[in-house]
Amino acid sequence: MAQFDHGLIDTLRTGTQFDVRISAEYLNVTSFEDVPSYASDTARYLAMKYASWRPDAIFVDRAVTSLYSQYLRETFRGVPCFIAQDRGGEGVVAGADFKTISWTTATSDIEKNLELILRLRPGTKSVLVVLGASEEERRLAKEITKAAARYADRIACVPTSGLSHAALMEQVAAVPAEQAILYIRFALDSDGVSHVPAQVVRDIVGRTAAPVFVVAQHLIGEGVVGGYAASFELFGRRTALWILDALDGREPSGEALAASINAYVFDQRALRRFGIREFVLPAGSTLLFQDNSLWGQYKLYIISGVVLLIAETFLVLGLVANRMRRRRAEAALVALNATLEARVLERTRELHEANEHLHDAKEELEALNRNLDQLSRTDSLTGLANRRHAEETLEEALLRFCRYGAGQGFAVAMVDIDLFKRVNDEYGHEAGDDLLRGIARVMTHGVRECDLVSRWGGEEFLLLLPGTDPAGAGRLLERIRETVGATLFACGAGAKSVTVSATLTIGASGVAPGDTLEDVIRRADAALYRGKEQGRNRVVVG
Ligand code: GH3
Ligand code: MG
Ligand code: MG
Repeated sequence: MAQFDHGLIDTLRTGTQFDVRISAEYLNVTSFEDVPSYASDTARYLAMKYASWRPDAIFVDRAVTSLYSQYLRETFRGVPCFIAQDRGGEGVVAGADFKTISWTTATSDIEKNLELILRLRPGTKSVLVVLGASEEERRLAKEITKAAARYADRIACVPTSGLSHAALMEQVAAVPAEQAILYIRFALDSDGVSHVPAQVVRDIVGRTAAPVFVVAQHLIGEGVVGGYAASFELFGRRTALWILDALDGREPSGEALAASINAYVFDQRALRRFGIREFVLPAGSTLLFQDNSLWGQYKLYIISGVVLLIAETFLVLGLVANRMRRRRAEAALVALNATLEARVLERTRELHEANEHLHDAKEELEALNRNLDQLSRTDSLTGLANRRHAEETLEEALLRFCRYGAGQGFAVAMVDIDLFKRVNDEYGHEAGDDLLRGIARVMTHGVRECDLVSRWGGEEFLLLLPGTDPAGAGRLLERIRETVGATLFACGAGAKSVTVSATLTIGASGVAPGDTLEDVIRRADAALYRGKEQGRNRVVVG
């Protein structure tokens, strides 16, 4: 009512040059519907109050039309009465004193609003239509049910009627978020309690997740989405113009009065909250509570920009961190490589040294082996090849002779020192040893490089003379025998030193192809034996 009053009074005061005196009476008829004397008593009180002051015009709201026509008509006889009433509604009054203005019907409100809900939220299947328990509101409920029947196949309208405030809130809370609530009016509840519309709307909005639509513009701003809603201020202004025209004796323009005071009005904040895009709103819609701040208008861009900036910052930081990590890793790698190289060098050096040691050890071992071999093949007393060496060499020489050297000759000689026992007996064993060494030296000097002088055992020697035929062997052996016979050997040491002469008996034999070692030795032995028998100190070639 405040919006209507504001529009009406403001227009009356500014629309004329006269000083306008306005007196408003607010009658709580809805609350006192059940009190029979309320209307008549109120009328009596008003009659008394206005007995001394006759207004030039009276405006009667539709809610009190019947009260006026029943009880106050006489009191204000002759004063033009302007009545706002529902177009085609009940209790239409007529008479010379009455001028009526049509009120937009609730039926057209509901149709437009149901269509609006379906347009904005196409998935909506049911709408809870909030209505109070007063007679007027019950009548509206009936009217709305009738009008909504046409939409029954698309959307179900559930008008609340005859509910307490608490029961209404329960019903409101049960509305699923994807459905909708249309607040028409909740002036009086079933407990007879009157309610302030804005407060009821706030209560509803606070209890539901569903969008709330309203039919009065002054309720927009309480969290509701909006609606095809009446501007009571506009209605007040139109009514004032109509009254002024009438008082001036002009016929009011019917068109202005008939023009709807309803418009599509929305709360931009609520639209955003429910994800309703502005382009789906009907043409000519008014948006209230628009966020015109830089932040409100460019929020998305600002947020995107900041997010991008942060993302880029993180990216850059990430890159820097990565680069630092990589550098550290590279440095560590270089250090590791250096360490590894140093280690490899160290190991290589160690290995090299070990190899050298091994090589030295191997050479030493080989030398030792050679030595051992040499020792195992050498007679320790004379330094000549021993019997084993002589046998091996003879075996090899026989094989070679057999294969390649048959034409060149090969002779073997067995040498025995004559009466050697006597030397031992006369000069001692030491002197005997010296004599053995001395004769070995003479024989070694007397043969060729390719010949072999070996100690066969005791005072016997075996000579291998490859490439030598028996005659050549005889000559060579004769030379050796003569040299020994002509030599005085210094034997013994100190007091026991003596010079000793010695003679040799030599048995020689030429080697024939196919001879075995035994064959050759036996023949040489036999020749030696013959030499001994013939008187010693001679060469016998057998
Ligand atoms: P024959 O003319 O008949 O060969 O007489 P012989 O005395 O030379 O021969 P016999 O077989 O009777 O004596 C050989 C001696 O040689 C006996 C042994 O004591 C001596 N003899 C063997 N080997 C060695 C040695 O290594 N050193 C010394 N000092 N004497 C040895
Ligand atoms: Mg002998
Ligand atoms: Mg002898």
